[in-house]
Amino acid sequence: MHMEAVASPSPIESACRAGVQADGAVRLTPAQLGDVGAAAALEVVPMPRGLALVLPDVSPRKIYVELTTACDLDCTMCLRRSWGSAGGSMSADTFAALVAQLSDLPSVRTINLSGYGEPTSHSQFYELLCLVKQAGLSAEVVTNGLRLGGEAVERLIDLELDRLVVSVDGIHSSATQRLHAGPFAQVAENLRRLNRRRLARGAACPQVTIEFVATKRNIQELPELAGLARVLGFADILVTNLIPYTPELAEEILYERYSTASRPRRPSPWNPCVDLPPMDARSVAGAAVERLRGAGTHLRTNGADVAGAGPRCRFITEGRLAVRWDGQVSPCLQLLHTHTYYYRDKPKLSRSYHVGNVNETSLPEIWNRPAYRAFRDRVRKFEFSPCIDCGGCDLRETNEEDCTGKAFPRCGECLWAAGLVQCP
Ligand code: SF4
Ligand code: SF4
Ligand code: SF4
Repeated sequence: MHMEAVASPSPIESACRAGVQADGAVRLTPAQLGDVGAAAALEVVPMPRGLALVLPDVSPRKIYVELTTACDLDCTMCLRRSWGSAGGSMSADTFAALVAQLSDLPSVRTINLSGYGEPTSHSQFYELLCLVKQAGLSAEVVTNGLRLGGEAVERLIDLELDRLVVSVDGIHSSATQRLHAGPFAQVAENLRRLNRRRLARGAACPQVTIEFVATKRNIQELPELAGLARVLGFADILVTNLIPYTPELAEEILYERYSTASRPRRPSPWNPCVDLPPMDARSVAGAAVERLRGAGTHLRTNGADVAGAGPRCRFITEGRLAVRWDGQVSPCLQLLHTHTYYYRDKPKLSRSYHVGNVNETSLPEIWNRPAYRAFRDRVRKFEFSPCIDCGGCDLRETNEEDCTGKAFPRCGECLWAAGLVQCP
């Protein structure tokens, strides 16, 4: 005898039923959304496989600024090896204009000095950092950690830099060779000095985050690195996967069998947090993650304890955008420069996409441009073909079109939206 199971409504379906209005539209209050774990009002939109809840268009909160594309290193894993454009450094005038424009965008709270280059190598780095702090904004700097000598440490503390993100991709040189060229011993010494001086001066900041690009070569060292937190004075480790910009590096990735499935965990309030991107469970990554888990580490995935979600672009849904050294504005870091990367051993040309230039148009005006709003709308609803899971045709070779649309750019194979790559 065949018995058909009667499925009970999902939390989302129950919330939607509760939010149906007399005109047939669905509007949900935060109280109704409590059932599905959301903190803000969401939109309900029809999708190919039924209704879906979509995050609202949020105001801009964080801006990634590329001060320079210059760097004292030449890492094998650097995007600068795969782009076709000439780089440069942001002028002080452009930077000052950008900061001034933010007075009309009060939702922006944080400036992250990063991009594809070493921000501390900009000839006016400290003056520009000072402008950010004078404007009452929170400042973050992403660095390779090599220029944090004694004087630099004192100036960063003086300027009350809020957060310093230091790239460390391994403790032993055998692990980092062919990836990130910075010697760990020197970076570690600089971090120790910063920690000592911060304590001696009674300074609360900068908080230090380690950014770790995980590969087959170095993932075994992650637990050892986490164990150095107190000695080196860092608060957390942000782990991201490698974006391979060369075919050789494509063999080093830890997401060959990428799947959105992952397990939710109840976090421990007592242990340090390690934020991981999805990785193949049946690989060397699995053993390292199990060691962290076994030690009671608070494990997160892409900033949340929620698992099993589809693509979500954190740039768009969390109000982030990027400004290139020449003032060009992109919705994200991925679209800042034209470059090639490899996914499932195949090259993909990612063309840059700019929505304006702060030297010509103010950032609030750029933010409200119809084309930019329409793009954010597409990304929030993620109206792109699922190339990340498919890879079945030649359209995926660029980000120009896919099998469901031609509106450039197409984000269906974006490693950031898949959660595989994350940034501070
Ligand atoms: S330190 Fe960063 S910007 Fe410099 S070469 Fe290495 S990856 Fe590129
Ligand atoms: S989905 Fe990817 S390419 Fe598209 S805006 Fe977000 S980060 Fe950029
Ligand atoms: S565009 Fe090609 S690779 Fe992308 S989902 Fe469609 S068929 Fe698959």
